Amino acid sequence: MTNCLARSTGMAAMRRNAKKENRRASFYFPLEEDCDTHRLVALALASPYLISMLAALTQFLGDRPSFYYPPEQVLTMKERFHLETPELLRLMVQVIRQFAVVPISNFRVGAAALGSSGAIYCGVNMEWTRVAFAQTVHAEQCCLTNAWHHREPRILMLAASEPPCGHCRQFMNELCGCENLQVISKDSAPMPLHDLLPKDFGPAALEMRGIDATWQGPALRPVGSPKVPADLLQAALEAAQRAHVPYGTGPSGSRSTPLRHLLGCPLENAAYNPTFSPLQVALVRMHCDHKPWTASPRRPASCLVSSPQAPYHVVSIERVPSN
Ligand SMILES: [Zn+2]
Repeated sequence: MTNCLARSTGMAAMRRNAKKENRRASFYFPLEEDCDTHRLVALALASPYLISMLAALTQFLGDRPSFYYPPEQVLTMKERFHLETPELLRLMVQVIRQFAVVPISNFRVGAAALGSSGAIYCGVNMEWTRVAFAQTVHAEQCCLTNAWHHREPRILMLAASEPPCGHCRQFMNELCGCENLQVISKDSAPMPLHDLLPKDFGPAALEMRGIDATWQGPALRPVGSPKVPADLLQAALEAAQRAHVPYGTGPSGSRSTPLRHLLGCPLENAAYNPTFSPLQVALVRMHCDHKPWTASPRRPASCLVSSPQAPYHVVSIERVPSN
């Protein structure tokens, strides 16, 4: 009886702590409080240790947790909280999912990945109203595109708050080095991607290279003299150099305000879909940098450069001949 009472009291305390944490989280992320309370309480009931670690890590990471943690900061977190990599990734997923952009589904997903450099990258699902659903970004894609942006050579381990959908399993399978990628699917132990996607189809089937964040193509230049601001055009050309277009003629996008450039380029998949568009890459970068969504109303400008063979382009480009 006493034990039951103690357990009950402990649970109540955990629920209070979870609610308290959620109130704190809701102050910064004022969405779906009930859903998050439910999840935090469920997590607390499953593992009081985890909930205390989650609270400590949330406090450590601050109001605006980064989507990128360099190797030295990862080591600091592991030592400070006595965590192994899988546990750290699981907890970071719970922290970062609060930053999902979900005006349609209201269903938050988080992902975190460890790169071969020792850095950790985070990602969330992203939706937009009044835009085709095909433009939505899955948390794993966001996380991996974030790592690609930072030129992370290889991804060794990825954790997600939900089991990765087929779309995301294929996207992971398009990465260089994915044969060594371990996936933590919700609460599971790390398992090889191959176990989640047996009898796969990927770049190797077509003797193509996978998405390699360290790769950069030859220099590009515009054809003719397009009427585009020079700095914007140059930024778009540099973005296009990193395009992963194994099928050939992909465009590169660059959207700009007078204050900054938001760059993107396509990440094509050997399996066609889920190819990531330049706009999606640019939006992921913007969100992972905690940039505001609305561009400056003053003189907004955009530029899309692509090869003349592409179905649409604003500025035609060509390779700079090497001497
Ligand atoms: Zn997915």
